[in-house]
Amino acid sequence: MNDKKQFSTRAIREGQLPTDERAHSEALFLTSSFLFESAEQAAAIFAGEEKGNVYSRFTNPTVRAFEQRIASLENAPRAVGFASGMAAIQATLMSLLQAGDHVVFAKQLFGSIPSLVNNYFVKFGLEVSYADVTNIEDWQAAIKDNTKLLFIESPSNPLCEIADIAALAKLAHANECLLVVDNCFATPYLQRPLDLGADIVIHSATKFLDGQGRCVGGAVCGSNEIMEELFKYVRTAGTCMSPFNAWVFLKGLETLSLRMQAHSASALRIATWLAEHPKVAKVNYAGLPTHGQHQLAAQQMNHQFGGILSFELAEGGNEEVFKVINGIKTLSRTANLGDAKSTITHPATTTHARVGAEVRAEMGISDRLIRVSVGLEDVLDIREDLSQALEQL
Ligand SMILES: *Cc1c(COP(=O)(O)O)cnc(C)c1O
Repeated sequence: MNDKKQFSTRAIREGQLPTDERAHSEALFLTSSFLFESAEQAAAIFAGEEKGNVYSRFTNPTVRAFEQRIASLENAPRAVGFASGMAAIQATLMSLLQAGDHVVFAKQLFGSIPSLVNNYFVKFGLEVSYADVTNIEDWQAAIKDNTKLLFIESPSNPLCEIADIAALAKLAHANECLLVVDNCFATPYLQRPLDLGADIVIHSATKFLDGQGRCVGGAVCGSNEIMEELFKYVRTAGTCMSPFNAWVFLKGLETLSLRMQAHSASALRIATWLAEHPKVAKVNYAGLPTHGQHQLAAQQMNHQFGGILSFELAEGGNEEVFKVINGIKTLSRTANLGDAKSTITHPATTTHARVGAEVRAEMGISDRLIRVSVGLEDVLDIREDLSQALEQL
């Protein structure tokens, strides 16, 4: 890392790659392999005696530029890029754990994580427990002698619950565990978990880092020692980021600060309006003073709260929810989030359908819950669209 410039400057300039062509925009190295000047050089590079690119599974300059930029934004010594957010999570668990280890996951997690852990990792002897992300005693009680990782997401999907990252980091370290934070909803613009004591930050770059819903990708940020383990994993396992996607994410990061300010401002306006709406029972958004952890979120997230909110209809079930979602004219009916385009989803039948009704009930995800990712359209049009859809009830 250079001597540090301000966040927005680093989001635009960190990891720039000078080329012989003197291209101003970052170069896209769309190549699977790299040339050696001689057989001797090939041998030296393979032996690690000389630095050089070999093969894009583990040494691609465009991917490296993305890794340097996201590491800088998270105040991390190093980052490793992955094919997706789920690949980043899989690589973290694979490279740092072994059979017989125990991990405590937040109950409130992105839906594919419990599926990954319960369907696959458990088969290879990983022990898992779940704890409430808002309740530190629950975590304390869940930790055992063989616990190696605590894994959280904050704000959580889709209920926007907030974890006390500093308190959980302390608890983790007192028990010789690492704290892993999925920072997808906040992005490093709003929240830097490593500064709060966390050990590892995970991203689905697919969401706000891209910001325009184009590519799937992921990243893990942390110490050189931990990242070396993840690098060794991606090098052998091949869950690598595509250079094309890395280039798109580099472009996305250039506007991250401005986008997160705009997403946050519009989401707060929509949440405030929804909270007064007679057909809405409850709004989940940490920017509302009525949110149970509003103060904690304000401290942890730079006094802005991101673009995702969810709300519960006052009455009805699937039929009423479907009526609202089908009544939408401008927002996109899609499960993605963190896009310039606002999106609307019914978690119980889409993102969180696979976990089953029982787990959903435990997570607090009701059938009446609707999630909105507030985009960058004019906020008046977003509100008008939700308003006319709710009027159809
Ligand atoms: C989307 C998402 C993931 C998974 O990322 P992919 O890029 O879709 O694999 C993980 N965590 C959170 C919070 C997400 O929203």
